[in-house]
Amino acid sequence: MTKRRLETLSFDNSYARLPELFYAKLNPSPFSEPPHLISFNPAAAELIDLDSDEAKRPEFAGLFGGSMLVPGMEPLAMLYSGHQFGVYVPQLGDGRAILLGEARNERGERWDLQLKGAGLTPFSRDGDGRAVLRSTIREYLCSEAMHGLGIPTTRALCVVGSEHKVFREQVETGAIVLRMAPSHVRFGSFEILYYRKQHEQLKVLADYVIAHHYPHLVDASDKYAQFFSEVVERTARLIAQWQVVGWAHGVMNTDNMSILGITLDYGPFGFVDDYDPGFICNHSDHNGRYAFNQQPYIGLWNLSCLAQALLPLAQKEDLKAALDRYTPLCERQYMELMRAKLGLIETKEEDASLIQDLLALMHLHHVDYTCFFRALGLFQAGTESLNEPIRDFFLDRESFDQWARRYKDRLRQEGSRDDDRLVRMNCVNPKYVLRNYLAQTAIEKAQQKDFSEIDRLLALLQNPYSDQPGMEAYAAPPPNWGKHLSVSCSS
Ligand code: AMP
Ligand code: MG
Repeated sequence: MTKRRLETLSFDNSYARLPELFYAKLNPSPFSEPPHLISFNPAAAELIDLDSDEAKRPEFAGLFGGSMLVPGMEPLAMLYSGHQFGVYVPQLGDGRAILLGEARNERGERWDLQLKGAGLTPFSRDGDGRAVLRSTIREYLCSEAMHGLGIPTTRALCVVGSEHKVFREQVETGAIVLRMAPSHVRFGSFEILYYRKQHEQLKVLADYVIAHHYPHLVDASDKYAQFFSEVVERTARLIAQWQVVGWAHGVMNTDNMSILGITLDYGPFGFVDDYDPGFICNHSDHNGRYAFNQQPYIGLWNLSCLAQALLPLAQKEDLKAALDRYTPLCERQYMELMRAKLGLIETKEEDASLIQDLLALMHLHHVDYTCFFRALGLFQAGTESLNEPIRDFFLDRESFDQWARRYKDRLRQEGSRDDDRLVRMNCVNPKYVLRNYLAQTAIEKAQQKDFSEIDRLLALLQNPYSDQPGMEAYAAPPPNWGKHLSVSCSS
């Protein structure tokens, strides 16, 4: 593969050729103080054939810190609207993100390169167009952690910081995360055209998305309904994956829902530590609209907003039929993945209650979700062992014993072998996830100009299923100080 330098990245900015009302063309605003590289992710550089040595050049921080461009870029901020916490907001748009262009790789893929935190845009409303260091680190690490877990997501190439002052609850410094995705089009990109009654443009956007991202549908007679149906499938699968890994998106507004079914927009988010179905990861979500156990339903709610926006293009019955598939799809996917977490191969009707009863016990006894499932791989079904190390996760050992007897019977019924099962379970039950306290430690060090912890976490989380020597402490549940860290939108 030819490795590209910054100046030879190959751009083809298809979005910039769409009707002008879809975006505002503008350049990023440089920081008031010089930009410097905080962390660089070689795995994301590979996606655009970028030579990793380029990160060593001063131009790298200049480019991804918003103070210069290279030929071929055509920066723009995208327009969209969306339902925020259930209420329609007629205009949102990229208030602090700027799409530099679509970089093409040798495999013919295109990756949007988007700066998040690059200054004011016409859509900034009351915001300052900036992002603070802590929020860029969280987005950078979590998007790569999700990718490492096998969950569809935007990617992140680097974080660039500066001494530029940003005012939040306190004075902080600004930073930019370079986010990458095949597309940043959201449900809200369609909603705005629907509510403005711009149905011609709505069709243009749908045709564009289908041509670029669902090309197998281009010639279908009911292509818009089929397109919606595929978005339903992808969203159902995505949210099932979030649930299974114990992750919650803190702001599941329709403007943060990707048309590609990938995880988009890491503001407040969280991995559940002690299992709690009512877990709310966003400090500002007072009513728990986006509580962990609400997310599958919110996925449906958001898809129904998209269905409405597509009404001018497709038959209502077809959209309704696609929407009706969501819940069974999400549940089926969830059950399949949970069975794998328990190391089960066959499908049995009683599995749902086996899983539900386990989760109820884990909730009651405040059991750490990630640690428990990783440990469950060591369960012995082939011996009379009481499985003490697993049993000890529960305050009331006997209630675990009752569940364990059912589990053992179930495993024996399908002739499960302990050693085989352990190997399978370790591939689906991560050892390392981006717990809030781990991110917080990296953030606090970075605020003291030590960026090493970011790189350490990045490398760790890119391989969350492998035991990594010397990294045992990173698999531990949070210490007391790290248990209830509050994360809100003001970032
Ligand atoms: P979010 O909840 O992060 O998805 O943001 C919702 C909307 O607010 C989007 O249109 C963002 O671009 C915008 N926004 C968030 N923070 C800022 C900021 N600091 N400056 C300008 N716009 C912002
Ligand atoms: Mg957003």
